[in-house]
Amino acid sequence: MVEYKCSNCGRIITQDELGMKAKCPYCSNKLLIKLRTRIIKEVKAR
Ligand SMILES: [Zn+2]
Repeated sequence: MVEYKCSNCGRIITQDELGMKAKCPYCSNKLLIKLRTRIIKEVKAR
């Protein structure tokens, strides 16, 4: 899975969350840093 990190708010965004939009769904920032695939624990922070 490809993941991105928002350069503005620092959230990790999966390609699934991103969908067809090339911007952060949380703050609408368009500058996303592509991360390498790695093992990350899923944390549900709500
Ligand atoms: Zn953001």
